[in-house]
Amino acid sequence: MARTRQQNVTAAQWTANGAALGAPDLTEPGSYPFGENVFNLAVQRERLPKDVFKQLQATLDRGEALDPSLADAVAKEMREWAMERGATHFTHWFQPLTNSTAEKHDSFYEPAGDGTAIAGFSGKELIQGEPDASSFPTGGVRATFEARGYTAWDPTSPAFIIENPNGALLCIPTAFASWTGEALDTKIPLLRSMDALSTSAIHALKLLGDDGSTRVFTTVGPEQEYFFIDEQYYFERPDLYTTGRTLFGAKPPKGHELDDHYFGSIPERILACMLETERELAKLGVPTKTRHNEVAPNQYELAPIFENSNVGSDHQQLTMQIMQNVARRYGLVCLLHEKPYAGVNGSGKHNNWSMGTDTGSNLLDPGDTPAENTSFLFFCAAVIQAVNKHQGLLRASVANLGQDHRLGANEAPPAIISIFLGAELEKAFEAISTGEGDPHTPGSYLELGASVLPPLPMHGGDRNRTSPFAFTGNKFEFRALGSSMSLAFPNAVLNTIVAEAIDDLADKLEAKGSDDVAAAVAEVVGESYSANKAICFMGDNYDEAWHAEAEGRGLKDLRTTPDALPEILSDPTVEVFGKYKVLSERELSSRFEVWTEQYVIRANIEAETAESIAKTMILPAALRYLAIGDDSGISAVTEETTPLVDDLVAALSELDEANSYPDDVEGLELAVYARDNQLAAMDRVREAADKLEKVVADDLWPLPKYSEILFIK
Ligand code: ADP
Ligand code: MG
Repeated sequence: MARTRQQNVTAAQWTANGAALGAPDLTEPGSYPFGENVFNLAVQRERLPKDVFKQLQATLDRGEALDPSLADAVAKEMREWAMERGATHFTHWFQPLTNSTAEKHDSFYEPAGDGTAIAGFSGKELIQGEPDASSFPTGGVRATFEARGYTAWDPTSPAFIIENPNGALLCIPTAFASWTGEALDTKIPLLRSMDALSTSAIHALKLLGDDGSTRVFTTVGPEQEYFFIDEQYYFERPDLYTTGRTLFGAKPPKGHELDDHYFGSIPERILACMLETERELAKLGVPTKTRHNEVAPNQYELAPIFENSNVGSDHQQLTMQIMQNVARRYGLVCLLHEKPYAGVNGSGKHNNWSMGTDTGSNLLDPGDTPAENTSFLFFCAAVIQAVNKHQGLLRASVANLGQDHRLGANEAPPAIISIFLGAELEKAFEAISTGEGDPHTPGSYLELGASVLPPLPMHGGDRNRTSPFAFTGNKFEFRALGSSMSLAFPNAVLNTIVAEAIDDLADKLEAKGSDDVAAAVAEVVGESYSANKAICFMGDNYDEAWHAEAEGRGLKDLRTTPDALPEILSDPTVEVFGKYKVLSERELSSRFEVWTEQYVIRANIEAETAESIAKTMILPAALRYLAIGDDSGISAVTEETTPLVDDLVAALSELDEANSYPDDVEGLELAVYARDNQLAAMDRVREAADKLEKVVADDLWPLPKYSEILFIK
């Protein structure tokens, strides 16, 4: 059999979870393992001494730091609970600036002195750790010689157990800071921003007549897109396992033009893998909810039920980890890269975001009559104002190398940030701001014309799938995140900028000094909307004409990462992060440096991988084919192939040149160099190579093709 067919047949084989059949029956009462591996509230209530439990909950409710005297009691129970579940080690689980998590395992066991070992775990070990963390990116906050970094227990995100076939590990979510107290991770700014937003929102709620709420939580529900690929193909592609995306690959005859994959029935192997992934996530207390096929072939989506931003963000990191682990049990690899395949839709992450009070109301729920919902109008106007003022920062919060292939292509929201409100809200805000017209949209029903079908209540606004920031009923959906990203920074940004806007509107409301709160809110909201409505766009964001219109409106169009990153250090960013003590200027500069450097390093890894594959795999294949053509004496073959090989060789020498950096360039300038030289040269190499893929004999071609990778499931 030819190489391709042989591999395809092998790849198409699979057995359920390595043939270990007999998954538990989740419909049996009590057998759904939700939270089984979490040291959650129920476990704490059951196991902790009553007074310790009460004190712990009281401190958490008030959002205060824990009394160290409680820690020993908590640590003791936590260890015993973990050991009952097979854990021999613990780790402070944290999130450095790498978009992934970090862990260093410590054993519970220590020698007892008499030749045996005893297990222990102190409150001190629970609360604080000091990993030798000199190699994490810090962007100059810390020099290697002063490399102390501390991890600190975050009791608001419950500890959990990661299982392995050969043991288990207790993971304690922690924050990670330098010895001078500066944030070196993504969790600290997120927690700080949640506090900031809570304070501002509670102050505003009091003005609006709500005296009952004492804390406001931001919430996040992420929709995660991803691809599966058979691991056989994955490991045959050095570009995939080195960079996460294919650097070569001609467009296959069939893509997603037929729309036959989207929401289609989920292939059996894939569904089996999803079911096991969801079961593993359930054990960890991650509330997964929906799954479906996405637009591109072999692309899927998973979404959990929303949670508070901190826990939701931790759970999202866990989700990405578990998805990748479980996939391997099915001979699959889960790709989280933003653009694994050229010419095929990439993967994003929709960040559904809202604010909820501790008394249970969602501040972005408009109710049936948004135009009369004073509190909703107030908070919604604050979001509009915040997004308009900090559009550049929001764009920067989702910038990375992978995203540059996606944002702005006709598959993902464009790099221009704008807000979709929907017809009903737009009408309400317009009427309130102009004082003219009816702000209400009467409710109506959809008649489906068949008597057996029920009449459906019609929503006040249609969906708009092209907007980067859309109001979707009772929350905003920030759709521009990339599939590989941590949620923490974009949410820290949202929380902080909205806190600022809430305070601004609250100040204006107080300044009106009016007894009629509803009328005063209408004035404040109307003024704010008029000043910020340039950011609102209800049309098709994929349309080329939008770029021109957006420019006319003065909106920012920051197309690539090097264009966007300077927003991290812009005056309004430094001011708002400083005012709300979320990130100091030094912490912001460190992030700017880290992200710039990551862009450069990743671009360089891609460029060097492309050069190596083209030179050592593709060119030799083309030369072999050329030799066969020459031998055959069929001049048409030689004539077709020779110029393509010439192009490849020429492009390769340009890439080779681009891959040696000029001497005196660094920082952002180097990122621009990488974008304009290395990435551009890679594109030219790819163009030549992809043309050759369509010509060279299939049995000589060294890389699995898109037509195989995307369709063999
Ligand atoms: P769609 O694909 O139509 O956008 P999904 O059901 O896939 O919808 O995802 C919607 C997401 O929004 C879910 O993760 C859901 O939990 C989340 N969500 C719903 N309400 C809120 C809220 N108040 N705050 C944050 N996220 C929310
Ligand atoms: Mg969505």
